[in-house]
Amino acid sequence: MATDEVIPDEKLHFVVLPFMAQGHAIPLVDFAKLLAERRDVIVTLLLTPVNHIRVKPILGRSRDRGVRILVEELAFPAEEVGLPAGCENLDLVPSNPLLANFMAATAMLQPQVEALLQKSISPKPRCLVADSVFMFAAEVARKSGIPRILFHPITCFTYLCSHHILTSKILDTVSDEFEYFDVPGMPHKISFTRSQAKGMAEIETPGWVEFNDKVIESEKAAFGLIFNTFEDMEHTYLREYEKVRQTRIWSVGPVSLFNKEFGDKVSRGKSSTVDVDQCSKWLDAQEPGTVVYACLGSSCNLTSAQMLELGLGLEASGRSFIWVVGFGGDDEDARKSLRELFAQNGFEERVNKSGRGLVVFGWAPQVLILSHPAVGGFLTHCGWNSTLEGISAGLPAVTWPFFYDNFYNEKLLVDVLRIGVRVGVKLTVKFGKGVDSGIQVHKDDVRDAIRELMGQGHEREARRKRAKELAEKAKKAVEEGGSSHSNMGKIIEDVRKFNKDSC
Ligand code: UDP
Repeated sequence: MATDEVIPDEKLHFVVLPFMAQGHAIPLVDFAKLLAERRDVIVTLLLTPVNHIRVKPILGRSRDRGVRILVEELAFPAEEVGLPAGCENLDLVPSNPLLANFMAATAMLQPQVEALLQKSISPKPRCLVADSVFMFAAEVARKSGIPRILFHPITCFTYLCSHHILTSKILDTVSDEFEYFDVPGMPHKISFTRSQAKGMAEIETPGWVEFNDKVIESEKAAFGLIFNTFEDMEHTYLREYEKVRQTRIWSVGPVSLFNKEFGDKVSRGKSSTVDVDQCSKWLDAQEPGTVVYACLGSSCNLTSAQMLELGLGLEASGRSFIWVVGFGGDDEDARKSLRELFAQNGFEERVNKSGRGLVVFGWAPQVLILSHPAVGGFLTHCGWNSTLEGISAGLPAVTWPFFYDNFYNEKLLVDVLRIGVRVGVKLTVKFGKGVDSGIQVHKDDVRDAIRELMGQGHEREARRKRAKELAEKAKKAVEEGGSSHSNMGKIIEDVRKFNKDSC
């Protein structure tokens, strides 16, 4: 920390450790911003140099508003584990086999975090808020004598379902991949196929059960768990999960809603590859509620052929659209080969000529786009952040899940909240670059799902109404006096009490 920093001792010092992947870091940085806005709190973010550069615009904007977030840099041992220099985020890992090296480098951060907590920063840290991926956080916090709060980038509904699926061993009784079974122990009927459940219950993958056991142990030992969700939507699941894990749970979301100003919405994640003014102007020229926004997250690894089917389906839907074509990072080769395929097919030329679509290669300001009145539907891969950002914007969704929690979020959107329409994906795809996931969804499936989402008629209007009502509840949760707003206060109170009691 800079030596000219004068910080009164009575301020409660939270140290926040985000995992270096977009879907993890974006909400935890939002959370850090929120925490830092509270009186009597100091927040230090632990970031590696490359990730620090990415969030600098966000921290700068907070500072302009008088909210100071401190940063301590952690040296990331990329080269030591055989990664290219500067490979400090999951979206920069060049190939699948190197994912394990990335995780190994992440685990090697432990001594640096330990040293920072124990002596290098002042005033003395009083709490560590760490992403659930950091298994070492428990030991580090214990050695420093401070509470550790675990931040979950996945939602409570998913964890409760997967808890019951795993503990009941129901998958042992289901042999067919596509046969539906009811999840035992859930507060209401909820059905999965084995194939859908797999993302969070990879019982056949070597090492998965052991990894999951570690996550559970880590949860049990935590001072409490934070979920990026809100009471009105997940009250039952939050309370049930609290009982199951016997620990404190605070819901503090949707954290994306705290990005109210234009600049805050634009600077989340990384720099946009689309001209933001051009994008806003294009949206301004569209009728309210008529545009479909399609984006499959930060780790999209669909084949070029599958991407083309998606594009052709968007075109065939007859709706205006913005489509963010991502490649799980900045994969120039994948981008080039896809553009060639689009050119052969004449896709981009037709889209540009008609003026009906905007194709963005790379990264778009998602929260800004979703909150524009012209957008009326969201085609999403159902990552939790995207799911919640769509809910917060009051948008019904076409669901195209890939892996992990995606099928669980699809279930929440389609079967529980009834604001989603399935595009029809049945199988999980493998995470990472260079995986041939084949073609699961055809152009007609995309066209039909979008028509169902955006069309007229009683059921479709009712779906839109439910989505709008849910967004109102989300907004209320984060306003002063709302459940998420109050829970932020409770976290601070609980940590203060812990520190007083242990003095
Ligand atoms: N995102 C974005 N622009 C893009 C793609 C993604 O801002 O072009 C953001 C999106 O708003 C969300 C995050 O990246 O906050 C993706 O997280 P999510 O949990 O939805 O999916 P993941 O990428 O982790 O699979």
